[in-house]
Amino acid sequence: MKVAIVNLGHIVSGDWRSPFVAGDTIICNADRIVSVGTASASPVESADVIIDADGMTAVPGLIDSHVHITFGDYTPRQRTVGYLESYLHGGTTTAITASEVHVPGRPKDPEGVKALAIAAQRCFADYRPGGMRVIAGSVILEPGLQAGDFVELAAKGVTLAKAGFGAVKTAYDYVPLVFDAKAAGLITTCHTGGSSIPGSGAITGDHLLAMQPHVSFHINGGPTAMPDADFERVIRESEIALQVCTAGNLRTALMCARLAERLDAFDRFIIATDTPTGSGIMPLGMLYTIAHCASLTDMAPEWFVCAASGSNARVYGLDSGYLAPGRTADIVLLDAPDGGTQKTALAAIKHGDIAAVGAVVTAGVPRFVGCSRNTPATMRKARVARSSVMQDFTAPAH
Ligand SMILES: [Zn+2]
Repeated sequence: MKVAIVNLGHIVSGDWRSPFVAGDTIICNADRIVSVGTASASPVESADVIIDADGMTAVPGLIDSHVHITFGDYTPRQRTVGYLESYLHGGTTTAITASEVHVPGRPKDPEGVKALAIAAQRCFADYRPGGMRVIAGSVILEPGLQAGDFVELAAKGVTLAKAGFGAVKTAYDYVPLVFDAKAAGLITTCHTGGSSIPGSGAITGDHLLAMQPHVSFHINGGPTAMPDADFERVIRESEIALQVCTAGNLRTALMCARLAERLDAFDRFIIATDTPTGSGIMPLGMLYTIAHCASLTDMAPEWFVCAASGSNARVYGLDSGYLAPGRTADIVLLDAPDGGTQKTALAAIKHGDIAAVGAVVTAGVPRFVGCSRNTPATMRKARVARSSVMQDFTAPAH
């Protein structure tokens, strides 16, 4: 399928250092972006589907790098089906697992956690709830896992490892496990802050600096934050990615954003939700955290859109997250919400409003055009101007 999106008001690139692309058109072919900015008449005319954005803002599909995936589109923690499809209606086009710890009765022995990670990775290799891409299968670091286990997991397609819920005596016991997982090429992540469930201890700056994982999961607390003084140490003394989550401590999320800017570490600042958890299912969580960070700091709203897309893609090595030729065609149309005081998506975000989603395209396929099931209505009206494919692009009514 060839898709042309025309009449865009603004285009956010996903790269916070160069956040805008000039022009008004995006062309996609199959699952890839072909061009961003301006296009001649012929690629638009030859498209199978033309979406008229009516002046809305195109942003890269949001990448939530902390979702509690289990199996299927189901969360046992909140006993709800269909939550991932619902997140797509909040602009999240990729969900990255925070490890499959919520699987009821999940295994704790080395063979069991390996099998769980492989099974989860396989179950989402082709399954796309609502069109969402799900990166699942993060091995839970448990005592007894050996260097060879991580090599085996990597060879079988697992890309992630998670420290924080294992049966260790102290968090320092994760140090050799994280080392071995990194050596095998896995992306390592670590729970940060107070324990989220009874039985797991607090993980603070000293532990992170000893472990040196790729990503500090919910550095702002999940939901309980580590000491304020540890944030600057982690930024200065490591290259660890700073993941702030919706279901965490808002004050420390804002503190971390300001510190990341001041210490030239905003490349490493990434946004996620850490849901579903005890905090609930939050289909608009990414949009909330983008709005909270933009409206409560002096920083630009487009920076936080990029922190929720391109920066996550860079940290996790994904081919989405940017609106650029050759990237996966995951595109979200955002607008100011109808009935608000602001005129554009970015102005609304800066104002503290939740941006309205007008259309979502994933892997080059329009999943809906016109109205999200979950956000307010858009001020402008995106519509399918022409289509020659047998698909209805309207979302179920509010
Ligand atoms: Zn979590």
